[in-house]
Amino acid sequence: MRGRIIRGIAGFYYVQTGNQIYECKAKGIFRKDKKKPLPGDYVEIDILDEAALTANISVILPRTNELIRPAVANVDQALVIMAAASPAPNLNLLDRFLVTMEQQKVECCICFNKQDLVDEEWKDKLRESYRNTGYRVLFTSARQGEGLEELCQILTGKTTTVAGPSGVGKSSLINRLQTGVSMETGEISTKIERGKHTTRHSELIYVSEDTYIVDTPGFSSIELYGMEKEELQDYFPEFADWEPECRFAGCAHVKERDCGVKTALERGEISRSRYENYCQLYEELKNKRKY
Ligand code: GDP
Ligand code: ZN
Repeated sequence: MRGRIIRGIAGFYYVQTGNQIYECKAKGIFRKDKKKPLPGDYVEIDILDEAALTANISVILPRTNELIRPAVANVDQALVIMAAASPAPNLNLLDRFLVTMEQQKVECCICFNKQDLVDEEWKDKLRESYRNTGYRVLFTSARQGEGLEELCQILTGKTTTVAGPSGVGKSSLINRLQTGVSMETGEISTKIERGKHTTRHSELIYVSEDTYIVDTPGFSSIELYGMEKEELQDYFPEFADWEPECRFAGCAHVKERDCGVKTALERGEISRSRYENYCQLYEELKNKRKY
């Protein structure tokens, strides 16, 4: 039987097939496939006990992709949630997140929640910060139920990894989306309540057919890994349009003269916060000790 791993915890994998969740072991997989099952994996399972909903994972089906942070397979896109206010949006953290998604070649969408706490002027400012980046920016209020239709549209038919610092309303939004789904779950999984394990592990939440959210642990900082300072500019998509106007080949857009990116910044085509965050991350990568 085929299913999808929605959660892995303490050597157990929870595999969803239809509206049943089997508690599985993955005996022999490591030796045979030389890979560790990940949340998001499509797998084949052999039922051990139908009544107890226990099974063994026999095959991990080929992955379309595999993210490292968060560790999850078969993701279509990422959604990063910030609060429009309370806590104030940290655009540096947001840009770091976007960079790590670009690095992993995952499309990203930005959601500012708690829009009920801010005015139009502030929303325009946030929109302006991501002008010409290509990232879709949406505003929601989990509290007042606003922007949820647009959010649903974005999610439908896809597996979306959802991330954000804690306190932005991620749980509130997810609870709003996950309506009327009831699952029959095997063994001890029923004893693990949401909230207890989500702090450390990523978990797939079934929204509707073919629609999953990957709930990831909240973060307060993001370090860039495995990245040279020269590639950073590739992860700021709006820079690509202006780079041909740079005078020097391999321009880093930091201290060089006649830089197309800096010209675009002066003209307001590239936002100041994006550019400043780029410079900060560039410095950080430059100073990183090479191993
Ligand atoms: P998480 O840590 O990101 O999962 O955030 P929670 O969903 O636990 O929400 C954190 C706090 O923000 C709670 O007190 C929520 O009631 C509140 N909250 C969540 N969404 C909204 C919203 O859209 N507007 C307002 N004003 N408060 C919200
Ligand atoms: Zn340049």
